[in-house]
Amino acid sequence: SLTLQAAAKEPVSLAVSQDRKRQRRQNTMIIVLKQDAPDVQVREFCHELEDMGLQINDSKGSDTHILGLIGDTKAIAESWVLANPVVETCRRVSEPYKKANRKFHPDDSVIDVEGVKIGGGNFAVIAGPCSIESEEQITYCAQRVKAAGASLLRGGAFKPRTSPYSFQGMRSEGLDLLKLARRATGSPIVTEIMNTEHLPLFENVDLIQVGARNMQNFELLKAVGRQKKPVLLKRGLANTLEEFVMSAEYIMAEGNENVILCERGIRTFETSMRNTLDLAGVVMLHKMTHLPVVVDPSHACGHAWMVPELAKAAVAAGADGLMIEVHNNPAKAKCDGAQSLTPDQFDELMQFIGKEVEFFGKKMN
Ligand code: PEP
Ligand code: MN
Repeated sequence: SLTLQAAAKEPVSLAVSQDRKRQRRQNTMIIVLKQDAPDVQVREFCHELEDMGLQINDSKGSDTHILGLIGDTKAIAESWVLANPVVETCRRVSEPYKKANRKFHPDDSVIDVEGVKIGGGNFAVIAGPCSIESEEQITYCAQRVKAAGASLLRGGAFKPRTSPYSFQGMRSEGLDLLKLARRATGSPIVTEIMNTEHLPLFENVDLIQVGARNMQNFELLKAVGRQKKPVLLKRGLANTLEEFVMSAEYIMAEGNENVILCERGIRTFETSMRNTLDLAGVVMLHKMTHLPVVVDPSHACGHAWMVPELAKAAVAAGADGLMIEVHNNPAKAKCDGAQSLTPDQFDELMQFIGKEVEFFGKKMN
């Protein structure tokens, strides 16, 4: 009723400000091209748009060819766009994310991590300990998770710990041990970066993880966006899905479109688990964006005994992959032991996951 009162008092100015808000939100346009539009004419049209100062996101999918316009599209009249013979239809888009938007790119993106494909019907499992602790530990874990069917090896070297007195990770020495484990198994490696200055150390890492605590470290997002390695972006502890996708947009806007999203649980009022796993968010993310979505049930619940059921539920909710913490001796782990599966437990889980992935018509990579 407050807004009604305001509207009654100032009907004109309210309408104008709402209109401006809508315009601001709709400063993006997508143009669907005709299937048989000749290339030369399409190119000519693109030049015309570029001359108007617009950036074009060209997406040729399985059955659609879409031009996503980035920039100030307010001045462009829909009637002008529709008058071009190569255009089937056009519409304005209100979401603030563009390159990550499913409307810009209707087909699922498939991200390739050193030959391991994730997304668009390709399923992959990332597994390994929370932290790299020694050469024997990481190599043993690497061999066991690979034998169980995981295609990517994880291990933290730079650890974002709540307490400065907790184990902070083996840092660059840990990265070297992770590379030794890769040499022993052939599995591509995934590890977390916490600082832009560390980027040179990550040159040989196959998939760079940006952790939950850094999801809105915009300088870090831009820096990983300026390099070519794929990025595993974890959802922040208390971030909305739109904020999450906007962080992916930061990386993509710099030129790196190889982004994999990871739902890892969010803060709620619930205290019996470390976080609350937002599986509905996985379904929604697939509607919002074309990027693959991986689920990390380990950090989501904090209890090893819960991980298998949550992992199965994630596959059923349409996840494109899983990230699971596995430790050779969880009771002695330097970090996150309580949520880590033993190699045997992981083995058993993977036998089910393999069948489940097949049941849902996806390919295990
Ligand atoms: C991790 O993957 O070990 C980690 C620290 O995860 P998150 O950033 O989701 O807490
Ligand atoms: Mn962890």
